[in-house]
Amino acid sequence: VKAITVALAPCAARSYEIHIGRDLLDTVAAQLAGRRWAARWFVVTDSNVAPLHLERVLARVDAEAVVLPAGEKHKTIDTAVALASSLLARGADRTSGILAVGGGVVGDVAGFVASIFMRGIPCVQLPTTLLAQVDSSVGGKTGVDVPAAKNILGTFHQPCAVFSDLAFLATLPAREWTNGFAEIVKYGAIADPGLLPIMAARSDDLRAGDQQLLGEVIGRSCRIKQQIVERDEREGGLRRILNFGHTVGHAVEAESGFSVSHGEAVSMGMVCAAALSARLGHLGAAHREELVDVLRRVGLPVRIPASLAVSGILERLGKDKKKAGTTIHFVLLKAPGQPFVAGDVPGELVREVIEDARS
Ligand code: ADP
Ligand code: ZN
Repeated sequence: VKAITVALAPCAARSYEIHIGRDLLDTVAAQLAGRRWAARWFVVTDSNVAPLHLERVLARVDAEAVVLPAGEKHKTIDTAVALASSLLARGADRTSGILAVGGGVVGDVAGFVASIFMRGIPCVQLPTTLLAQVDSSVGGKTGVDVPAAKNILGTFHQPCAVFSDLAFLATLPAREWTNGFAEIVKYGAIADPGLLPIMAARSDDLRAGDQQLLGEVIGRSCRIKQQIVERDEREGGLRRILNFGHTVGHAVEAESGFSVSHGEAVSMGMVCAAALSARLGHLGAAHREELVDVLRRVGLPVRIPASLAVSGILERLGKDKKKAGTTIHFVLLKAPGQPFVAGDVPGELVREVIEDARS
């Protein structure tokens, strides 16, 4: 009898750095040349980002570009197959690497293809939206949607590095700012209450591109996500607290046919989660009001549109991908910075809270 040891790479071997700053492209170029993660690089971006930023990227980084059609509706397996074919046609092989330059959609599709192309090639993330910089580029989740649900086909594939260049944000549309703000407020609610007064007072300065402030809130957000992901890479338990506001949020987003954006839906979901926390006696009224007030001040909606049916939202809650068995897990708060997962929230109370939150 022989014992065979499968020595998987320890965590440290897959650890990576998140760089946040302005004009990082020289750093990117230097790291690609110096670290030799891959012999040849392919920039993957989308049709909105390409005209705005691709020239600037290719001027510094030695790579070829593949441009995907923009938008969540193209986050499909067909786009992933087209990307793989395009890489193959340009001679990509297992020594090639992908540089994902775009928002969450590009990051997810490019990361997904990187994780399976020739059984996996390196991926470096250059997130260009605030949402991607504070959330989706960190943590190694990749994926594409199927018609019935989001992110159903996916993998875990940690990037070699993440470079959040603040210069990309200069062209961000207004609604993309509020999308990112929702996730930052979420980090404030679950882990870093000091972010809440900053967001309440200074969202206009962020939109105006205050570099120091942007670096501060993006850095604090990434640190929280990184710490949670480090301790729970595959969502065994702790990582679930990142879903604060997302249980009702995902249901609202889907029920609206995605006319309510992710950040807007998460904002409404956080209002409901805070209301549930208060109704169950965990969260004080002042804390609940503070959270709603911050969301309002950054320009996020705090009421669910009356056009969305409560029954539809409740039905979608029952189908949440994150549910375990028949109980829906809600992330609730005891106070800002003190989240916990509750598995026993009465359905009737959920209905009441959603009804209350509708305008
Ligand atoms: P997410 O909000 O999850 O990051 P997307 O990848 O769909 O989702 O990005 C949102 C939209 O913003 C897309 O239409 C994308 O092409 C566009 N976009 C991404 N980055 C920028 C940018 N820096 N400036 C302007 N538009 C951008
Ligand atoms: Zn989110």
